[in-house]
Amino acid sequence: MRTVAEYIELCEWDTSRLLVFSDNVFGNLIYYSHLLPLVVSLLLAFFIFSKNSKSLATRWFLMTTILLCVWLYFDLILWATEKPAFTMFFWSIINMIEPMIYAGILFFMYAFIDNKDILFKQKLLVFVLLSPTVILTWTNLNLSYYDLTNCWREAIEGPLPYYSYAVEGIFAAWILGFGFRRFFQTHNKSERNKIALMTSGAVFFLFSFAMGNVVGSLLVNWEIGQYGLFGIPIFVAMLSYLVARYHLFNIKLISSQLLVVAIWLLTLAILFIQDIDTVRNVVVITLILFTALGYLLIKSVKREVEQREHIEKLALDLEKANARLRELDQMKSQFLSFASHQIRSPLTAIKGYTSMALEGDFGEMPEKIKGVIETLDKSAQSLIVIVNEFLDVSRIEQGRMKYEMSDFDVRKLVEETVAELRPNVEQKGLKFTFDADVKHDYRVYADQGKIKQVIGNIVDNAIKYTPSGSIDVKVSRTKSTVNITVSDTGVGIEPDVIPKLFSMFGRAKDASKTNVTGTGLGLYVAKQMIEAHRGQIWIESEGKGKGSTFHIELPAKN
Ligand code: ADP
Repeated sequence: MRTVAEYIELCEWDTSRLLVFSDNVFGNLIYYSHLLPLVVSLLLAFFIFSKNSKSLATRWFLMTTILLCVWLYFDLILWATEKPAFTMFFWSIINMIEPMIYAGILFFMYAFIDNKDILFKQKLLVFVLLSPTVILTWTNLNLSYYDLTNCWREAIEGPLPYYSYAVEGIFAAWILGFGFRRFFQTHNKSERNKIALMTSGAVFFLFSFAMGNVVGSLLVNWEIGQYGLFGIPIFVAMLSYLVARYHLFNIKLISSQLLVVAIWLLTLAILFIQDIDTVRNVVVITLILFTALGYLLIKSVKREVEQREHIEKLALDLEKANARLRELDQMKSQFLSFASHQIRSPLTAIKGYTSMALEGDFGEMPEKIKGVIETLDKSAQSLIVIVNEFLDVSRIEQGRMKYEMSDFDVRKLVEETVAELRPNVEQKGLKFTFDADVKHDYRVYADQGKIKQVIGNIVDNAIKYTPSGSIDVKVSRTKSTVNITVSDTGVGIEPDVIPKLFSMFGRAKDASKTNVTGTGLGLYVAKQMIEAHRGQIWIESEGKGKGSTFHIELPAKN
């Protein structure tokens, strides 16, 4: 009976260095077929993971790729080692890992397509199916023995690997079935594309992988399997491409990086291969890889160029449309200003004559005519207000609004305005109060006419929108501001409408019930004017029927 060492001597086996380097590995093709997929897959999986580490799909992808790399590395050890114990050890692990890689791809598919983890009971089924392979790894059901007498450096497999192949077959069919089901359940075209591409990518990946082991194991020819392994980086690249594409990474960048790394590795590898036939094979594989990745790259660059051209065209159109809009806007403001000026002169004349007539400048009027003239006078007045609002708006729009600034006392100004409007308030039967602590200084540096206009407008609104109750006007001070508040017990405002009221033509839905002639321009003008003074204007209201309070805040002159 010979010892192991004697057999090793007899079979002329080389001693391996770093487990994987030895003359036992015939041809550099083996290194090529193992190390290339290992490096490329690992780089890809880590890259994709680093871009989106939270996604379940990229996590499963990474885990499966790591298992695959362990498999590839251990398989390389089998080619190189001369120690039967090592062969037995690593071969056993390889047989255990193999179906796990299939399960990993299955989990990955669920995570990728459904965007959620596989159901618990399905997971349980996977574990149950895997458990014999795992539990029986170290028994001779997996590897029966190692025959040294034939110098083959091969373990003899027991029945367990056949069970594992069956499980792998089930997982592969499951993936295919799942892909098909989801494909037909979805009607969205791009979603369908995604499912079809991913399922075929996964199936091809498993097919390539199976070439490397199942075929080798069944035909007891480990060499043809090597060519299958070359498929792995292509399909890992394809899967990564899909993960990237549907997670919206920068595909162009990823595929160009991939292409460079892959070509670099392949070219480097060719340097180490002496045998011309192997070089030919490697060049064929390089060509396939280059074609696949190059195609993806060119396609994505093309798409990007098209998109950019499209965007540039849109931007150009948008610019044109914008210029046209500005022109129209300008025309609108000019028209508004022109029309208002033209309307204002005859209106002023009408108003002048009706006022004179009412004041008795043309002698005593019969009662009937007096009524008509009064209506005319009121109508002319409200038209003048509207025309003035239009003029203000067009001035603001064109940036032509002029402010004549001076120092004045806001309290006095408000008091005056209140006094002027008092008859209107009392005519409506409302209570009207004014309150300001005389101790304080209410001076501001502002355009007196404009501030008066704003206060007048706010109080006027309070009168219009308050059917009964009271209106209270108050002037107060803080350290840096003079504040005017106008509170009423009127119709109130819904909180969600408040922000809209300061925009042009902004009115509450039922505003016309209480005030028919309103335009919705008053508050817009008020806000523009107050903000031009670096002040603020805002509204508080508890809601419909609960009254409103208008606040104006102006910087105090200290
Ligand atoms: P309008 O000419 O319609 O009064 P404004 O710009 O002055 O235009 O006011 C805009 C809208 O704000 C009004 O239509 C009304 O709905 C609401 N509003 C203004 N003041 C009050 C108030 N004191 N109480 C309730 N609603 C008001």
